Amino acid sequence: MNIANTLESWVESANGHADFSLHNLPLGVFSRAQQSPRGGVAIGDCILDLGTALQAGLLQGDAARAAEAAQGDSLNPLFALGAGPRRALREALQSLLAKNNPAQQRLRDLGEALLAPMAHCTLHMPARVGDYTDFYVGIHHATNVGKLFRPDNPLLPNYKYVPIGYHGRASSLCVSGSAVRRPYGQTLKPGASEPEFVPARRLDYELEIGIWIGPGNELGTPIDIAEADAHVAGFCLFNDWSARDVQAWEYQPLGPFLSKSFASSVSPWVVTPEALAPFRCAQPARPQGDPQPLPYLRDARDQRQGALDIQLEVLLSSQAMREQRLAPQRIALSSTLNMYWTVAQMVAHHSANGCNLRPGDLFGSGTLSGPTPDACGSLLELTEGGKHPLTLASGETRTFLEDGDEVILRARCQREGGPSIGFGECRGVVLPALA
Ligand code: CA
Repeated sequence: MNIANTLESWVESANGHADFSLHNLPLGVFSRAQQSPRGGVAIGDCILDLGTALQAGLLQGDAARAAEAAQGDSLNPLFALGAGPRRALREALQSLLAKNNPAQQRLRDLGEALLAPMAHCTLHMPARVGDYTDFYVGIHHATNVGKLFRPDNPLLPNYKYVPIGYHGRASSLCVSGSAVRRPYGQTLKPGASEPEFVPARRLDYELEIGIWIGPGNELGTPIDIAEADAHVAGFCLFNDWSARDVQAWEYQPLGPFLSKSFASSVSPWVVTPEALAPFRCAQPARPQGDPQPLPYLRDARDQRQGALDIQLEVLLSSQAMREQRLAPQRIALSSTLNMYWTVAQMVAHHSANGCNLRPGDLFGSGTLSGPTPDACGSLLELTEGGKHPLTLASGETRTFLEDGDEVILRARCQREGGPSIGFGECRGVVLPALA
């Protein structure tokens, strides 16, 4: 057992907590009843109020600067400070919350003002997103979806050169737990010659991770790939809800529009690069014959340790399953190792033309499917475009999402014998279309 396994806290619920042990300390924005939203840190089944810690004089120097930047209803000012203050805050909290902290009684005396029970709190969007970009770096997803349209040539020739993406819609991002209304849209029924405007019939989820941007760059000044990681403030789960029938009709020639912009769900906790450091690994080797990345996307250190080893899950719970008290059913297990491009390559590419990234911008990774059917990150892939329905524990079948279905994304990393780090959940229930 290495020393990292021994980080125990006097907050008992944190010890052995699958998501929020003392090793994780993700950042978020929360509120208690009758209180305004404020910055906090998840520890076990509690949220540490950064404002209380600051006012009680528990934080100094850079750690205090970081906590001060988290006093409002968004973490944008904290993201803007970059890695130094964020790391100082993490180190200070790890020492304050450690089991062997001799001053712990003083902290315990602060009671729920310092440690609010998470079950009594509301979690909010962690940052105000100025711009949201959705990438397409899940190569198995790109291949699976490409196959549905072009069986002989699933990947377009640019895929292995360009980290493909499109500019998404920031205004309809919503925090986990927000219900998602089935959208109306233009769709073209098979065999029809004219579209109709109806509630989407092929509603789907997309299993993605979200990447929160830190300091960012000035307009006209690209971020070098060697510096790219310094501009990442953290990670979350991301469900890019998609109306496939709308998408199929509208996406050419400029890409998705209203099929994606009705809602995207974000998990509330920002898992820091520091917490994920033990789960960095080498970018999986490109298949033989694939081109090397162009020089502006190539960095030896990034190739050595720029990938992330995070397990990802999709669970589905229908209204009937909930009524029958059946547990949500896992319908996919995948991994961030299915990313063809690293996060640093995404940051470097996005800014390569001089486009400025700003604190609180959000990237979606793109759907992270694995190579096998049990690792499909969307129903489009899992049911092969609706051809092979999925059977649920209740006996119901699904080709696409029905009203009342709840989609739950989870993510966790763990090394043999070591502590696990979790992202919490990203949930959303489908509401019927407006009458
Ligand atoms: Ca997507």
